[in-house]
Amino acid sequence: MKKLIGLFLLVALSACSHKPYVLIQDVTVFDGESLHENVNFVFLDSVIIGISPKKKRYSGAQIIDGKGMTIIPPLINAHVHVREGENLKAALQHGVFALMDMFSTDNRANALRQFNDSLSYARFYSSNVGATVPGGHGTQFRVSIPTIDDDLSAKQFVNDRIAAGADYIKLTQEHSMEKLSPQQLGDIVQAAHQQDKKVVGHISTLSDALDLANHQVDGLAHIWYRQGAIADASALISFRNNHLFIIPTLSVIQKVIESAAQNGYADRYLSFPQVQAEVRKAYTAGIPILAGTDAPNYQLNYTTQLYEELILLKACGIPDLAVLKAATTNIYQQFALPDFGLLHPNSMANFILVPGKPHEDISDLKVRMRVWKRGVEVLGS
Ligand SMILES: [Zn+2]
Repeated sequence: MKKLIGLFLLVALSACSHKPYVLIQDVTVFDGESLHENVNFVFLDSVIIGISPKKKRYSGAQIIDGKGMTIIPPLINAHVHVREGENLKAALQHGVFALMDMFSTDNRANALRQFNDSLSYARFYSSNVGATVPGGHGTQFRVSIPTIDDDLSAKQFVNDRIAAGADYIKLTQEHSMEKLSPQQLGDIVQAAHQQDKKVVGHISTLSDALDLANHQVDGLAHIWYRQGAIADASALISFRNNHLFIIPTLSVIQKVIESAAQNGYADRYLSFPQVQAEVRKAYTAGIPILAGTDAPNYQLNYTTQLYEELILLKACGIPDLAVLKAATTNIYQQFALPDFGLLHPNSMANFILVPGKPHEDISDLKVRMRVWKRGVEVLGS
């Protein structure tokens, strides 16, 4: 009798947990590194089972015709400022699996981190408050934030942010405002690196960009775009040798330049084609380029603007496949994000099904995509 009950339970349990395989047939897969054409992409529950040209049979599988479509790994926006949970939800519905916040308050950042386990929200990462001095960039928004001064050392500031949950450290060097001293810069980077945190810096001039590179900052939150900021070969070599990455944020820089032209101070900045030439030079020099928009500045959204950013990067002369990496693999690697990686068997079934070939024409991302997170299709509102 006991045996019978045991058997019955076993059957009942397996019936409950039974989910069919999902097989996306004849699809192209960009796994984050390389392309696999005309393969079958199979996942079960939350895990990728296979990416293979073999027509293996999966009994009872749910079949999706993937002909003419491409599977790509999760997109990420590497420079935003998240205001509320709805931003994270909208992002995920558009295939943006993570938003990297580049200056917030500790309270807001920690309120947003509560969505991180949810299936229907993009993952939220944040620097929390950025490192700045009194009168420095970040202090102009009439929000009370700690600043590095006689009472708060750079090292203590970094320790406080990490204690408050910061995923990385952001610092700001804006040439039109008060700036961190070389000593403070060095102390911030040293304290962050000692605790295995990346450091991303806001700049607008080329000389500040070089200064940050020389202080071993990991990445720039914008490309240089002030008047006269034209990098020569030695500057590019310095960026590359210091292993710097760049999040150009062309979306927001384009708006800054447009608005300057309308208000009669265009001469403060490079022209937009000049900025695009700087991005192309950085890419050609082997500097990793990461996609970010700086939403919601200039009312940029958390969703489709990332596709526009990628189209702007392509217009700089970056090949489509490299542009796709700028919004996926480059971000996973440069920020060492444990939650994101290549699409391989046994990895989490987080992916996007795009009609078309975004690796050949990035604007195919604008056609309605389908998104799966942990093997569950994310539906639009
Ligand atoms: Zn920003």
